[in-house]
Amino acid sequence: MTEPLLCELSIRDRRAVRFPKPDVPLAPLPENLVRDHLPLPELSEVDVIRHFTRLSQLNHSIDTGFYPLGSCTMKYNPKINEEMARLPGFAAVHPLQPEEAMQGSLLLMYELQEWLKEIGGFAGVTLQPAAGAQGELTGVLIICAYHRSRGDSRRVKILIPDSAHGTNPATSAMSGLQVIQIPSDTQGNVDLEALKQQCDDTLAGLMLTNPNTLGLFDENVEEVIRIVHEAGGLVYGDGANMNALLGIVRPGDLGIDVMHFNLHKTFSTPHGGGGPGSGPVGVAAHLVDFLPAPIIDIVDEGSEEVPPLYGFVDPVRTIGRVKSFNGQFGMFIRAYTYIRMYGPEGLRSVAEHAVLNANYVMARLKNAYMLPYDKVCMHEFVLEGHWPDAPEVHALDISKRMMDYGLHPPTNYFPLIVPEALMIEPTETESKQMLDEFVEVMLKIAEEAHTQPELLKTAPHKTPVGRLDEVKAARDLVLCCGVSPLEEE
Ligand SMILES: *Cc1c(COP(=O)(O)O)cnc(C)c1O
Repeated sequence: MTEPLLCELSIRDRRAVRFPKPDVPLAPLPENLVRDHLPLPELSEVDVIRHFTRLSQLNHSIDTGFYPLGSCTMKYNPKINEEMARLPGFAAVHPLQPEEAMQGSLLLMYELQEWLKEIGGFAGVTLQPAAGAQGELTGVLIICAYHRSRGDSRRVKILIPDSAHGTNPATSAMSGLQVIQIPSDTQGNVDLEALKQQCDDTLAGLMLTNPNTLGLFDENVEEVIRIVHEAGGLVYGDGANMNALLGIVRPGDLGIDVMHFNLHKTFSTPHGGGGPGSGPVGVAAHLVDFLPAPIIDIVDEGSEEVPPLYGFVDPVRTIGRVKSFNGQFGMFIRAYTYIRMYGPEGLRSVAEHAVLNANYVMARLKNAYMLPYDKVCMHEFVLEGHWPDAPEVHALDISKRMMDYGLHPPTNYFPLIVPEALMIEPTETESKQMLDEFVEVMLKIAEEAHTQPELLKTAPHKTPVGRLDEVKAARDLVLCCGVSPLEEE
């Protein structure tokens, strides 16, 4: 036996499937394809089902518990979205079908484009990008194409606040731009003086997350945008935090030139565990011609008797295609359903309740934990996970201890400008009872940190595996525990 087997449940010659006797003459296999032993687990159907069902139950999920993972907007995924995505007319459509044969799907994509325009205050939208990060890349390439189209080839510099998500500098660097970090001021806003110093005729633009990753709405946002525009730069909006703004503020109205949406955050399409995301990009009127090709449009208005015909259209100065076929179509159906189910008023109440929930939890925790920016937050807030009088305890220990209470930990050590950051985003889909339960656990852990710190240092105690060496666990992944019966032979 050379390879260790994945599964110690295997029993030699156990089978889930037995093939019928062949009704055609047997033919010999080529010599080089013959194996006298295949090191695969041998299991019955019931073994397999129980194994995977048990594994699925070891996972924390939004369907099984509270998931306050900041910046990720782990809101509940309504099941009606799934039902709609499984309608055969959507689920079985092939992207290479002729346009006339997929009018329903094109109509859905067109309407989603129109709604995202309306929600974000933009003149055009592409649905192509596969996630927020790819939306950023698309947006930055559009900014570059815009400057190039005006013969403005000196603009090579992009400004990124120090609170930004790591994808911002990464996508800018991939686009060939020079990334310059802008500090935050004591209020967590973009430092205006530092910003002004960088605004010259080499400025391509600024990437701005508002509310930022501290969960704070930048009070100077209009001033920031004016300064960048006056220097000839464009403003990219990182729309990952749209959950705080839905129906209240339209980034396009603030002067944001281009922004991505994360359908898998704001519009409740499932994420985590590596599932597909979707990062549509909205642009202001002066950038519509640069959108990736194709976008969905009405290609024939029709008449009273004939419905309009939807099809693919290439913007005249397009940066080209950024994703194969039409993007993550299944996510479009889910986001479309979510938006239709809520309607305009409902979407506004999503943002209002997300902000209310975050402020409620923050207010109840701020005496027990250090709060670096003590002001009204938006849909999330950041605590410091350490205390001067409990020096051995770190944010990671708090998070591990939360797992013992059946809670998913918040985002740890991000944003980078807050020491021992614990970034908490309750979302609007949690009840007051759930929030209170969470608060009680957090207060209990704060007390434990002072009275029994070793309880935190060695947590988790109640999970299937205890404290892992996080570096080794990633580099040297061991998926099986125990010894395979086959290996023992
Ligand atoms: C999630 C997130 C991104 C990246 O989006 P993905 O869809 O994960 O690629 C960018 N910026 C912020 C602030 C985010 O929270």
